[in-house]
Amino acid sequence: MLHLLDYCEAQLIEWLAEHQWPTFRAKQIRRWLLNSRVQSFDEMSNLPLKLREQLKEEFVIWSMKVVKQHGVADGTEKLVLQLADEHRIECVLIRERERRTICISTQVGCAMGCVFCASGIDGVVRNLTMGEILEQMLLVERLLPAEERLNHIVVMGMGEPLANLKGLLPALVEASSPQGLGIGARKITISTVGLPDGIRKLADAQIPYHLAVSLHAPDEELRQKLVPVSRKISLASILEAADHFFDVTHRRVTYEYVMLANCNDQPPQARQLSELLAGRNAWVNLIPFNPVDGLPYCTPADLVVNRFVQVLESSGVQVQVRKRKGDKISAACGQLRRIRPEPVSLSGTSATTHG
Ligand code: SAH
Repeated sequence: MLHLLDYCEAQLIEWLAEHQWPTFRAKQIRRWLLNSRVQSFDEMSNLPLKLREQLKEEFVIWSMKVVKQHGVADGTEKLVLQLADEHRIECVLIRERERRTICISTQVGCAMGCVFCASGIDGVVRNLTMGEILEQMLLVERLLPAEERLNHIVVMGMGEPLANLKGLLPALVEASSPQGLGIGARKITISTVGLPDGIRKLADAQIPYHLAVSLHAPDEELRQKLVPVSRKISLASILEAADHFFDVTHRRVTYEYVMLANCNDQPPQARQLSELLAGRNAWVNLIPFNPVDGLPYCTPADLVVNRFVQVLESSGVQVQVRKRKGDKISAACGQLRRIRPEPVSLSGTSATTHG
C-alpha cells in the first residue's frame, strides 16, 4: 500500500487524473488529511463514494501505530511510533504557555554517534519519508483539544536532519503552508550536528526556517571526542557555513552547547567559546546534559552552568539555558532512542527488550 502523506499536491493531482478525477479533488483530500484530523477515508464526506473506494484500494492514511503514549505533569507527551517496517521512532509534544511544539524525528536512529546522545547508540537504519515526518505532526496534533493547533516545530528528535533533506524539506513545506498545517516558517527550527555542505544547501535554497548548530566544544580536540563525525569536519568550516547562512538569510544562527560536568563546562572553555563566536550575530543555547542510561556523563550543577553563562554574557555573547522538559519520560533533548520492536513470543505474549 502507498502512504497518502508521501504524495504532495502535484502527485495527488496526477494520480487523480489517471483515475479520471478532476484536480479540485486533490485540495479536498488534502484538507481532510492535513486540517480535519480524519482517521479514515469514510470520513471524507464530500468525496464521491467511488473515489473513496479507489483511494482505499491503493493508499493508507496512517502508516504508523502509536505503541506507547507517555505523559508528564509539565505538559510534555511522548509518542512511541511503530513504522510499517516495525522499526520504532519517538516524537514529543511540548506545551509551554501558548506554545504547542512538536519535536520531530527524521531518521530511524542516527549515524552521527555523539557520545552523550541516546539516539545514535544503535546507529541508523534508514531515513524517514516525507509522509512519515508529516504523520508525526498529525498524530501529535491529535493529542490536542480541537481548538488547539501545533504552532512550533523543532527538528531535534532522532536523526540528523541534514542527512535527510529529501524527506524533511517537503514535509516542512506542507507543515508551513497555509493549506497544510499552517505553522509559520519562523516557528520552525532545524538543528544540525554541523554538516557544512548541508548548511550551505539550506542557505542557498533560501529556506525560511531557523538554523541551530550543535557546537558542544570550543576546540577541535574536544569536539572530535564528543562529536565523532567532526573528525572530518573542522570547526572553522562549520562556522563559515553558518556565516554563509546568516549572510544569505539574515537569520541569526543558534549554537547549541550540551553541558557535560567537568568536561566542557569550565570557565576557560566559556572564554574560548566566546572568542570563537566573537563578532558573530550568534545566540548560544546551553543544554545541561539530560541523563541517558548507560552513558558516563553527568549534569553540571546550576552554579557551574550559571558561571558559564556569566563568562559568555560578560563577553557580549547572547546566551540562554534551555529549560529541561519531559526528562521524566525520557523525552528531553538527546533522550529519544531507537527502541527495537518487542518480539512476540510463541505463546503470543510479548517480551520487553528496550535498548
Ligand atoms: N542531530 C541534530 C538534532 C539532535 S537533538 C543535532 O545534532 O543537532 C538536539 C540537541 O540536543 C543537539 O544539540 C544535541 O546534541 C543535544 N543533545 C543530544 N543528547 C543530549 C543529552 N543527553 N543531553 C542534552 N542535550 C543533548
